Amino acid sequence: MDSSLLRNFAIIAHIDHGKSTLSDRLLEMTGSLTAREMQAQVLDAMDLERERGITIKAHAVRMMYKAKDGITYQLNLIDTPGHVDFSYEVSRSLASCEGALLVVDASQGVEAQTLANAYLAINNGLEIIPVINKIDLPSADITRTQEAIEQAVGLDATDAIPVSAKTGLGVGDVLEAIVHRLPPPAGDIEKPLQALIFDSWFDPYRGVVVLARVVNGRMYRGQKIRFLSNGRTFQIDAMGVLTPKPVAIEELTAGEVGFFTATIKNVADTKIGDTVTDDEFPAAEALPGFMEILPMVFAGLYTVDSHEHTLLRDALEKLRLNDSSFFFEPESSVALGFGFRCGFLGLLHMEIIQERIEREYNLDLITTAPGVRYRITLTSGEVIEVENPSRWPEPTNIEKIEEPIIKAMILTNEEYVGGILKLVEEKRGKQLNFEYVTPTRVMLTYELPLNEIVLDFYDRLKSVSRGYASLDYQLAGMWTSPMVKMDILVSGEPVDALSIIVHRDHAYERGKALVAKMRELIPRQQFEVAIQAAIGSKIVARETVSPLRKNVIAKCYGGDISRKRKLLEKQKEGKKRMKRIGKVDIPQEAFLAVLRVG
Ligand code: GDP
Ligand code: MG
Repeated sequence: MDSSLLRNFAIIAHIDHGKSTLSDRLLEMTGSLTAREMQAQVLDAMDLERERGITIKAHAVRMMYKAKDGITYQLNLIDTPGHVDFSYEVSRSLASCEGALLVVDASQGVEAQTLANAYLAINNGLEIIPVINKIDLPSADITRTQEAIEQAVGLDATDAIPVSAKTGLGVGDVLEAIVHRLPPPAGDIEKPLQALIFDSWFDPYRGVVVLARVVNGRMYRGQKIRFLSNGRTFQIDAMGVLTPKPVAIEELTAGEVGFFTATIKNVADTKIGDTVTDDEFPAAEALPGFMEILPMVFAGLYTVDSHEHTLLRDALEKLRLNDSSFFFEPESSVALGFGFRCGFLGLLHMEIIQERIEREYNLDLITTAPGVRYRITLTSGEVIEVENPSRWPEPTNIEKIEEPIIKAMILTNEEYVGGILKLVEEKRGKQLNFEYVTPTRVMLTYELPLNEIVLDFYDRLKSVSRGYASLDYQLAGMWTSPMVKMDILVSGEPVDALSIIVHRDHAYERGKALVAKMRELIPRQQFEVAIQAAIGSKIVARETVSPLRKNVIAKCYGGDISRKRKLLEKQKEGKKRMKRIGKVDIPQEAFLAVLRVG
């Protein structure tokens, strides 16, 4: 298609500000979906996404729009994942666009993800149209939202479009603005092919499906293509666009967006951010911005029932087919038996994978406390990376330990600043900036160890701010820190799966809080159980679970059968998530107790 008639855009917003609702309304108003086809929030296709109200995978939808000038334009809406764990994918989706709609909820105003996403869009050189949503709500304040966009984001909001994505009011103006305010793509169809991969997934019938934006040249069915990052070549066997129903096409030209398949078996071959070129007439260079994404958060996954270990491996292999950003390798634990050490982009990513394993593969999991990957310089001069506490070197062999840190932006109302400052201090944060972005809203910029974020940072932030703080972060290098390994001993035996890595100056406190929490979580047994926290051979804290006196059934006076059965069933349920270690039953919560103390 004539590239002057193309518009590629994304919708960016803080979570719940109405991105999905607005996308659906645009699809509906361009006739891409009839009202009957219209399911609530079609773009969030996976059940899990729908339930959690988040968009995990980016998608692209082509709409044909006949504007008021009588001309029909091709609009490509590129959906971006809505969570910090996926910020690299967001940045590649944005790099596929010329413009973005910045949706801000008129009753909530600008939030941390509004800012983070707006900055990503600005850095990618996108033209931004501010859209003020939910104006049907009585609490909507258009003028204040406009001011917040100007003050906090630094964008001119005079021409911000007030809409209600729910009722459709103002959405027609958004379509006209897309056509008249966003620039068409600038690519050259005569140049060698350069196409940006911004999403890919495994389809059991078609193999790997790749979503790409053609920047220069053309891509056509039968073409032999090459991926520049790994030199792999494939032949395109099918191409299409999502409308959102898949529709087959023969080619994509400079500026267009669509998907292709090429009998690619392994999703890891198609890396987000990579450049696709023509194998015979290759482009001289790759498109800018490519990065290998690496897992940041690590945890051990085990099945409650150790016979199900191979089922877990099958599940992980299947999930990995579709998600190359997640990593796993076998590990074994004295306490838990055979399992897998898994690496994730972040905590949400970890929860999603866990939940899919339990739901889709019907396995009960024991998960160990999440941690990060440390870079350790040994006294021998060798540098190693350690993400598993059980592989932590002997302290005498350690020269230097470095831990990953993040740069966090926290946006909140001024009344919560005190509580948040206390929290970030406790989490070893270093302040970079403190700024009033509006007369009542404060933006705090901090460097914080990732290790502290993966513990309970989100929950704590939510509670100290009563939910009125939003957080966004990105990786920002490494700090040298005196970390130590803390072991937990149950009845005198170290339980390897409970070991964690903590900062030396926080070890005593953590150890104390941790064993106290474990004492609550470990059910009383027939005998006394000692719980201790130790660093090396030094015990730093101790608690005792006193022995059980009466058995539960005895309380029922033998009379009421149904009550007795209920009680037994309840006990059984409780057992499900227990792991017997030595003679002691330890519940799943105990393995995550470290997440709940602080
Ligand atoms: P997303 O997280 O940005 O994709 O937000 P959603 O589109 O899922 O919307 C979050 C919630 O806000 C949902 O309950 C929507 O029904 C609601 N919502 C979205 N747009 C509007 C609107 O214009 N008015 C009102 N009242 N509610 C809206
Ligand atoms: Mg959504």
